[in-house]
Amino acid sequence: MRTLITEPQLADGVSRLAGEIDRHYQGRPITVVAVLTGSVVLFADLIRRLSMPQRVGVVQASSYRGGTRPGELVIDAKMLIDVKNRDVLLVDDIFDTGATIAKLRDELLAFGAASVATAVLLRKVRENQHTVRPNFVAFEIPDEFVVGYGLDFHDMYRNLPFIAVLEPDEIAATAAEFG
Ligand code: 5GP
Ligand code: MG
Ligand code: MG
Repeated sequence: MRTLITEPQLADGVSRLAGEIDRHYQGRPITVVAVLTGSVVLFADLIRRLSMPQRVGVVQASSYRGGTRPGELVIDAKMLIDVKNRDVLLVDDIFDTGATIAKLRDELLAFGAASVATAVLLRKVRENQHTVRPNFVAFEIPDEFVVGYGLDFHDMYRNLPFIAVLEPDEIAATAAEFG
């Protein structure tokens, strides 16, 4: 496993992200919505660094059915709190193709959100990205499959306190044992 972003770098990045978000909302109350499951670690750290009044909720999106390449995108909004007339900040772990953020943004607007902004820990620099861009990004990374700080492979590695790239032998071993 090769570390891409260390624990202190993550802490700095999340503080920077919170600072940008605070400056944008200027103390106005917001509804922060975590995209389950990958954003849970970022979400816990981020909401404690934001200074405005916050309502918090969750929504589930899954596209990686166990692999390292995207599958069908499924949104589950059963647990979502009321967002009607609220300024929503959607928080996700990573912006890859942008399909997840684009679809969730449309759904939140359809549920009557007054505004939807998006914050992500990571944005992959790659071709063929959605035209909808995240409003707040902590780190830009190369187009490699990463794990840790909430991001998984077969639901493993979310607990790592840093961001790492898995080696091919680790991908094979994890898929064999947990896939
Ligand atoms: P998008 O819809 O932007 O293509 O993909 C976003 C979702 O795909 C993320 O929320 C995340 O769950 C998953 N994803 C994309 N790239 C990676 C990656 O490098 N590692 C992991 N673990 N998940 C990823
Ligand atoms: Mg995700
Ligand atoms: Mg995943």
